[in-house]
Order: sequence, then structure tokens, then C-alpha cells
Amino acid sequence: MTAGAFEDKVKRRVYVVILLAALAGSLLGLAINEFTGLTSPFIRGLLIVAATFEAVVLFLLHTGRMRFSVIEEALYLIPAALLLGVLAYALYIPASPEQADSALRGFYLWIPAVYIVVFMAHEGTGAFARSVAVYLAVVAVSLPAVAGSVTNLDSLSLDQLYISGAVVISFLYFIARLRDRLREAEVATERMKLLAETDELTGLCNRRRAVGILDDEMESRRRHGHPLSVIVFDIDDFKNVNDDFGHDVGDAVLASLSRLAKRTLRQTDELARWGGEEFLVISPETPQTAARNLADRLREAIEEKEFRFGGGVSASFGVSELRKEDSGTTLVKRADTALYKAKTRGKNRVEV
Ligand code: GH3
Ligand code: MG
Ligand code: MG
Repeated sequence: MTAGAFEDKVKRRVYVVILLAALAGSLLGLAINEFTGLTSPFIRGLLIVAATFEAVVLFLLHTGRMRFSVIEEALYLIPAALLLGVLAYALYIPASPEQADSALRGFYLWIPAVYIVVFMAHEGTGAFARSVAVYLAVVAVSLPAVAGSVTNLDSLSLDQLYISGAVVISFLYFIARLRDRLREAEVATERMKLLAETDELTGLCNRRRAVGILDDEMESRRRHGHPLSVIVFDIDDFKNVNDDFGHDVGDAVLASLSRLAKRTLRQTDELARWGGEEFLVISPETPQTAARNLADRLREAIEEKEFRFGGGVSASFGVSELRKEDSGTTLVKRADTALYKAKTRGKNRVEV
């Protein structure tokens, strides 16, 4: 699983937990308000809207019917809108001090959660912009109350709310930047790993990676008892190509031959550059006879190819099937010995 997919999965779970808690909270709030008689039609309506929103998003998250990014946008926008409504209600709509106090408490408690969800959903800069927008909306809604004299305010004053909001956003931004750095480092590590395992000239996997793949394949073949073969091939008289046409032409032939070999092989075969002009094919699920046929197809394809320097090359092949007592080294060694036999028997041929 990639880091991104893993993160999405974890986020999805966290959202479900948050939404379940919020749904329970909304329903409980509704019940308590009804019971204590503190509620007003406005707050009752808000709580019903909140509970409906939470239930709907839970459903959408569960069924995957809506794009995750859209859900993440709704996850902070709608609660922010609801909370701004609560704030406006507490500050401006005539209500009993108890009702205003209870509504403000709800607002103070939940506004940090909005910022947290924003920073969970978005990378640093995007999250910062969104949370500042919410923050400014809070200021805009409450500023007239600060400027004028408002009787509905409880002991927690709004200027403290402005400061704590700025602190919360700054802290979350700091954490988000660290997280973004971590992600970048992860991507860089992946890229370096790929580079360390890729042959620059041909784009094939290099010897180091091939050894790893071979180990994995042998492990899996031991578990399932399926056949596995390897083919080692080496370009014939490649020195002459370099001597006659130059090293760059030799390089181009290596790259071109690699592409040709990759096209000729099956999807499940792994092709690696084993050495200078020597290649290794790892063929899972392939007994020796089939590997031999595959090598012959490859041999023909190479023989028929006219390269850009105007000529052709041939290659010699050694084939070997995995035996019970084999290690990766002994398996490739046997294919190497077969290749040597092909060279001594006249080149441009396949031996086992
Ligand atoms: P044989 O049929 O016995 O394999 O003959 P050969 O000439 O291919 O074998 P030899 O081992 O004598 O020479 C291999 C040549 O491959 C020499 C080396 O310069 C060339 N070679 C190896 N790697 C590269 C490369 O990356 N680029 C180029 N252009 N040539 C390379
Ligand atoms: Mg050679
Ligand atoms: Mg060689």
C-alpha cells in the first residue's frame, strides 16, 4: 500500500469516529435541551441539521458514493456554517442569558474541531488558507458584538477567542508542515530506491534488484511447488560493435536490444541487466522446455533486428530450471555454464 492510500484509509476511519461522536453529541444535545427546556426553535433546528448532516456523511463515507475530496470539503464547511449560526444566535438574537450561554459554550467547544478537520484533510498551505477563511468568518460575525455592547456575552470574552483561534491555527500549521515534509521525504526515498535498483542506460532493473526478485520468486515457488526458470544471455562479439562504431553506438544497441527483449518476453517475466552486455530473465511458472522456447524466440528476435547503426547483433543463451537444492547463486551459475557452452559451440544459440 502506498503512503497516500494508507493515509486515506486511516483518515476515513478517523472521520467515521469523529462523525459517530458528533452524531451522538447532536442527538444527546437535542435530548438534553428538550429535557431542560433550555432549547429554542433555532438551536433545535441547528442540532437537527447537524445530526442529519453527520448521518448523511457517515452514509456517504460508508458507501463511497461521493468523492472523498468533496466529503472532506463538506466535513469542515458545513460544521463551520452551523457554528457561525450558533455564534450569531448567541450574540444577536434575543434569548435568555442561559440560552445564549449554552449556545456560546457549544461554539467555543467545537470551533477548534473545525480547524483540526481542515488540517487533517488538506496539506499545509491549503489547510492554512481554509482555516484562516473560517477564522475571518468568525471575526466578521462577532466583530459588531465586540464593537458594540452586547448583553448576551458570557464570561469567556471574544478577544480571547480570537487569540486562541490564532494559536490553534498556528500550531496546526506547524504540525502540517512537518507532515508535508515527512511525505516529501517518503516520496524522495521511494525515488532513490527506484534509482538504486534501475539500470540507467537501459531502464531495466539492475543486478541488485534482480537478486531480490529472484530470492522472492524462489521463496514463493518453494511454497507453492511451481516451476521457475532463468535465462542468461550475452551479446555475441559485442566488443566489435564498440570497436567498429564507437562506444555510443554500443550504448544505443544495448538500450534498443533491452526494449526489444522486454517486448518479446511475457508480462510475468522479469528482465534485468546482469552485467555489461549480459542479461538475466527470471521466468516464474516456467519449466525448462518452455524457458528454452522462450529463449529461442528471444534469440530470433535479436538476430532479425536491424539496429540504427545499420547492422545486427546476435546473442547466446543459457537456460536453467530451479532444482530443489538450488540457491539463487547455483541456479544462475548453471545458466551461466550453459551460456558458456553456447559460446563455445558457435554462439547465437540456446543451451541448457
Ligand atoms: P562474446 O561473444 O564472447 O561475448 O564476445 P564479446 O566481445 O561480447 O565479449 P567481451 O567480454 O570480450 O566484451 C564485452 C564487451 O562489452 C566489452 C565492453 O566494452 C562492452 N560493454 C560492456 N558494457 C558496455 C556498455 O555499457 N556500453 C558499451 N558500449 N559497451 C559495453
Ligand atoms: Mg558478449
Ligand atoms: Mg559478457
